[in-house]
Amino acid sequence: MEKDAKISQDGPSHKPQTVEFAGLQPISLFSHLPIAFYTCDAEGYITFFNQAAVELWGRTPEIGVDMWCGSMKKYYPDGTSMPLEICPMAMCLHLGETYKDVEIIIERPDHSFRNVLVYPQPVFDVNNNIIGANNTLVDITKQKNDEAMQSMLANIITSSDDAIVSKTLQGIVTSWNESATKMFGYEPEEIIGKSIKLLIPKNRYNEEDEILASISRGEQVRHYETDRLRKDGKIIKISLTISPIKNREGVIIGASKIARDISEQIASRNKIKKYTKELEILNQQKDEFMGLASHELKTPLTSAKAYIQLLGKALDVSPREEDLLKRALQSISRLENLINDLLDVSKIKAGKLPYNMELIHFNDIIRRSVRNVQFLSSTHQIIVKDTADVLLLGDQVRLEQVVNNLLTNAIKYSPDADKVEVKSVKEGNNLIVSVKDYGIGIPAEFLERLIERYYRIDNTMRFPGLGVGLFIATEILKRHQGKLFIESEVNQGSTFNFIIPINTKA
Ligand code: ADP
Repeated sequence: MEKDAKISQDGPSHKPQTVEFAGLQPISLFSHLPIAFYTCDAEGYITFFNQAAVELWGRTPEIGVDMWCGSMKKYYPDGTSMPLEICPMAMCLHLGETYKDVEIIIERPDHSFRNVLVYPQPVFDVNNNIIGANNTLVDITKQKNDEAMQSMLANIITSSDDAIVSKTLQGIVTSWNESATKMFGYEPEEIIGKSIKLLIPKNRYNEEDEILASISRGEQVRHYETDRLRKDGKIIKISLTISPIKNREGVIIGASKIARDISEQIASRNKIKKYTKELEILNQQKDEFMGLASHELKTPLTSAKAYIQLLGKALDVSPREEDLLKRALQSISRLENLINDLLDVSKIKAGKLPYNMELIHFNDIIRRSVRNVQFLSSTHQIIVKDTADVLLLGDQVRLEQVVNNLLTNAIKYSPDADKVEVKSVKEGNNLIVSVKDYGIGIPAEFLERLIERYYRIDNTMRFPGLGVGLFIATEILKRHQGKLFIESEVNQGSTFNFIIPINTKA
């Protein structure tokens, strides 16, 4: 128990005290101290406090009412509540002991918290009776926060998967975390104080000089991919981010390096590159094969078609035989269309689908297309509604192919209906052509995907087809600055529309 401060006074009372100290009133001694200070009488009633204490507590205690401490609430450093009657000042008065560096947390009326070190000290009269005590409160909140922040940062650095290293501007290693040990193989004591060049392959020494120069200029080096040398001599691929470290005055005193091992990342990047290249080659070979195969299939088919047509003309056929010949020709036409589609896809892929642009009457296209498709269908009637007589620059064969595809689909995907309708209208400088069916319709979520290549909706798998028609149509329309748009309702039918500008000049 320290009993070194002996001050004579008139004895404890609940009233404000005027304690003399070396002939001065405490108000003038302590009032303006920048550090919180207060006194209590022997019973614990606060008898004096200065302005710094009021600011620290966030409240003004009532003299003669408040006891032991002026703060609203007190806690132990672990956050549990501290009863007022056993706070350090109360204990000091009970036991007559001096306490030093006791840490408590106080809560202010605005519910903010301060970390405080308290130094309660008893005051005795000449007969060694306790007549009161004084207490000095040191606010250490900032240090505590700084400490907490420091230990949080230290934890982040320790637990980081990235190697985090600091070095001076001369390249001398000053700190080294666990991941740096794992990544480079050196224990901290083997490398701290040594040159960072231990990690740099000789052929990359210049690189370190350049990095240090950038850092000295205050620049950051981000995600720099390079090679580094492990202790065992193995080269690893890393991505580096290097930032300047400044002291309080803002002077650059070193650099922090964050290194990530990207060996695996680079290996998989290279693998992906290799596979992509292989896939591209395979894809190209497939397209070439498709082109070649379609071409080879087409030649004998064209001959077969011609022979059947000749046969039909040469022979005096009965109506039944004529019907059989017609069916044979229909089948050949379908096969021809499929082969042509495959050929077109490979040409589109190779950017070699030829276009022969000329001025055309769009009505002719619709008429011819309706005739061709009608020839192949005995179940549906194609009804031509309004048509706009429009002259435009386009490829007649290709645009006819677009209309053919839409009409064929309209028939194919409406097995329970008996008609499809086609119309064209002029809107401003555009022509809109629509093909409407009363068929199975298309669920909304598939509409967008339909113009992708080879996309077929699951519920249409029972219908024959390759799924390339709409892709070809979209490509052809693109070449005419046009586009396809679809309206559809499941089980009600679909309307496939396309819009193309009525251009008459190239
Ligand atoms: P294909 O008809 O040979 O499968 P398309 O490219 O012409 O190929 O059409 C792609 C897909 O779009 C079809 O498989 C079908 O799922 C859907 N589709 C096209 N037209 C219609 C239509 N009129 N009604 C319903 N679904 C359609």
